[in-house]
Amino acid sequence: MERQGNIKISSENMMPIIKKWLYSEKDIFLREIVANAQDAITKLKKLVSLGEAETDGKYRVTVTADEKENTLTVEDNGIGMTEEEVEAYITQIAFSGAADFVEKYEKAGGDGIIGHFGLGFYSAYMVSDLVEIYTKSYREGAKAVHWSSDGNSTYSIGDCDRTERGTKIVMHLAKEESEFARESTVRRLLGKYCSFMPYEIYLDPKGEDDKPVNTTEPLYTRQPKDCTEEEYKTFYRETFSDYNEPLFWIHLNMEYPFRLKGILYFPKVKKQVELERGQVKLYCNQVFIADNIKEVIPEFLMLLNGVIDCPDIPLNVSRSFLQNDKEVQKIAKHITKKVADKLTELFRNDRERYEKCWQDLATFVKFGCIKDDDFYNKVKDIIIYKNLAGEYRPVVSYFGEEVSEEDAKAGKEPKAAYYVSDESKQAQYISMFKEAGLDAIVCDTYIDPHFISYLEYKNPTKVRFLRIDADVDGALKEAGGEDKEIEEIFQKHLGDEKVKIKTEKLKNAGVPAVVNVSEFMRRMSEMNSFYRMGEGPEDMTLVVNTANPAVSALKGVEEEAQALAVKQIFYLAKMSYRPLPPADAEAFAAACVSLLEKYLKK
Ligand code: ADP
Repeated sequence: MERQGNIKISSENMMPIIKKWLYSEKDIFLREIVANAQDAITKLKKLVSLGEAETDGKYRVTVTADEKENTLTVEDNGIGMTEEEVEAYITQIAFSGAADFVEKYEKAGGDGIIGHFGLGFYSAYMVSDLVEIYTKSYREGAKAVHWSSDGNSTYSIGDCDRTERGTKIVMHLAKEESEFARESTVRRLLGKYCSFMPYEIYLDPKGEDDKPVNTTEPLYTRQPKDCTEEEYKTFYRETFSDYNEPLFWIHLNMEYPFRLKGILYFPKVKKQVELERGQVKLYCNQVFIADNIKEVIPEFLMLLNGVIDCPDIPLNVSRSFLQNDKEVQKIAKHITKKVADKLTELFRNDRERYEKCWQDLATFVKFGCIKDDDFYNKVKDIIIYKNLAGEYRPVVSYFGEEVSEEDAKAGKEPKAAYYVSDESKQAQYISMFKEAGLDAIVCDTYIDPHFISYLEYKNPTKVRFLRIDADVDGALKEAGGEDKEIEEIFQKHLGDEKVKIKTEKLKNAGVPAVVNVSEFMRRMSEMNSFYRMGEGPEDMTLVVNTANPAVSALKGVEEEAQALAVKQIFYLAKMSYRPLPPADAEAFAAACVSLLEKYLKK
């Protein structure tokens, strides 16, 4: 016999609120109902292990989508409920749980309850006009129970003729929610939320060869030592639908001081200029919670692909709460540490592979350092750059001894480390450096200009970076090369140009002159153009090489030849700094022709 009852908490006001807030993510109702079914099986399994219940051991959840009836049904063979339990857990708790939820949601200022957990059973009403429960408890002699309610203030409860242990939830979908009665929609949602749930889930089972839609033992739940390389790759492919092989991975598996399991994959970088956003899926006991929760996973790790399962994260709280939660911060720190450890291990134990992967890793590591000091401190010794000979070396090996405060006051600067930012444009400087036995690092990721500034900021007393064309007279000069007479000759013929003139004896006699732009001024100018404030002044110096025979020969020749040669040397030097502007290029070409004419006339 059915009897009627009133739901104690006023839920009329709650329904519209829940419906409205969760509208965009209403499909999580399926996760909630299937997770409840899974929990019911876990509970039964526990009782079986204690000898308090019996089972044939075939645990399963069955989901049936019925377009004709416009219903979606979730059935389990778990613990089931007695009439008292339905009253206590569904009629009372479920509705008060929803009240709790609304209250928390309001407190959180509506910024999203992380997993929407705690809404549970009630979330079925986001898509249903009526929900029915058929259930039979594992307890001996328990009667089967039928409960139904439209989710407003009344419900009915009574006996039914269910014979199997377990619970069947029938959701009579609202007209406008009929998509949830479509098998394809349900399959997609089960794929999203339930892929890793621990007991088999069958969708619209038809016969013997039905396959479950989920993997009950996802790779990350296993011990790392029991997983093969092939399994890691397959798991990656299936979970992220990425057919490129990952570079390598980190298997997280810890029990103490908090539980954390998961696998983080480093994907191959497809394009240098664009950091692709990865996907880090967060799970709680194999139930999908959300993608890319930045409060739990450090921002820079979002470039990776991965799954993290962390049962200890409080899920029925708001995101802003998570951000300030000490436990959550510990988790994020731990993940960062693991990533740093794995990279360090690779660097130490398999340098060759590390160097091979570096092109794909570099941007990630540098970005991580800039974003996270802790990470920088852990990986600073394993950041490598190619040198002019094409060999990778740790960037710290270019740092110098610390300059004491006293020495700094006396004008001593930290050691200069030279870098190349464009191998073809800076080719002349590179060959001069090589000839002089000097070294430089080659910067080739777009993040390098920022990263170099960051390294200076972190190591202000140990290093300053100079682009290879910035301070040539410092790196390449030999003592006693100044020559007043040569300087005057250049001054006279380049009087109109915006350039300072300096004479030095350089280590490479073959180059008549080089253009030098101070690192500081160039960075300023780059910054200006970055912020679209125009190029800004460029402080250019022409360093004339008195060791060059053509330069020293200038002294004895007539003025017209001097003028021609000086201009030509100037253009040549400028050209190896950057392409000549049109007017200069024309003048340069004309001068070349007249030189040829003079030379051939002889
Ligand atoms: P929560 O799962 O957060 O406790 P729910 O509203 O989802 O909240 O469920 C309330 C209670 O109803 C559960 O704790 C459980 O005791 C009971 N319940 C729900 N679904 C089932 C089920 N399929 N089988 C057995 N008990 C269930």
